[in-house]
Amino acid sequence: MKLSTVWLILRQNDISKKESTACILLNDINTLAQYTFFFETVRNTIVMGNFSSGSRDGFDENQQMHSNWFLRLILGVKQGTSTPMLHGESGVVPPSTLCHQQVMLYYIRLNSLPQGSVLKSVFLDMKRLSDLSSTNNWCSHVLSIGNRYGLELDAFDFNEATKQHVKSVAKEKFISKWLSNINDHSLYPGLRLYKLFKHEFACEPYLQNIKSVQIRKTFTRFRCSSHFLEIERGRYVGKLEHERLCSVCNIVENEFHFVMICPLYSELRNSFISKITSMFPLLLEYSPYEQFLFFMGFNDLDLHCLFSRFIQDATDLRSGVGVAQQTAENERLCAGSSPHRS
Ligand SMILES: [Zn+2]
Repeated sequence: MKLSTVWLILRQNDISKKESTACILLNDINTLAQYTFFFETVRNTIVMGNFSSGSRDGFDENQQMHSNWFLRLILGVKQGTSTPMLHGESGVVPPSTLCHQQVMLYYIRLNSLPQGSVLKSVFLDMKRLSDLSSTNNWCSHVLSIGNRYGLELDAFDFNEATKQHVKSVAKEKFISKWLSNINDHSLYPGLRLYKLFKHEFACEPYLQNIKSVQIRKTFTRFRCSSHFLEIERGRYVGKLEHERLCSVCNIVENEFHFVMICPLYSELRNSFISKITSMFPLLLEYSPYEQFLFFMGFNDLDLHCLFSRFIQDATDLRSGVGVAQQTAENERLCAGSSPHRS
């Protein structure tokens, strides 16, 4: 489907129709277009919707969930995947932060209007009531948002420097909180691996580098522990960590075991590591675990393509798809060679 057709559909006002359209289109348009779609339609709709409705915090939890749902859909991860990973992989600043930026700047803009206008008079009346501490109104709510970011909103003039400063402060505050969250094991136990290879808030280049949608989503699921290895499956069914065993080796089946140890994938692994060490020969001087973290976190086009292909093939093999394909191939070869043999 052409991107221009996508735009026509997405310009409709019915957001539920947009969502259902998005579900159909996500496998049809590339990652960049998906993000463009997200930025230009759903997210902006949410931000402006909240802004104009004047909700207390500028944003509410349901709409945050709506945004997270969409990110999960784009990335192809399970609905239970933690939000710090959604933001970390996509590099998307959540609509709540954008809404805070907008609402604080609008306050500053109103406060900077010349005296005498109707809008400024209404604003000053509201502000006077807010200052009396007896009324919670729009002004008091926005000022409390400003305080959370350490911004004294009344001190700013409305100009380009102020816009950049407010946006920067809000974004930095979000990134600081994000960094704290990915290292908070008690709050986000599912990030046990993620925090070891993800250190900077930015859209992951592999989302562009890997052209196959299926391989990209499998790779994202693997990075975000949104897969079906026993270490995660066991967590959901309440098994203790030492009980989450590989059916082949009878030891804990985690991502490291899957990538570097399990003999089930030896052939695939040897092929992958042979190619990758020819590109990065120094890797051979490091331990298997350090190599594993390098594969997970290093940004390189060739590494992304080779490693994600390995993850896809090994995942297929584990799920039986690879075995089934191999069996079918063997049967086809046998059938084809029978007349020759006879
Ligand atoms: Zn194993």
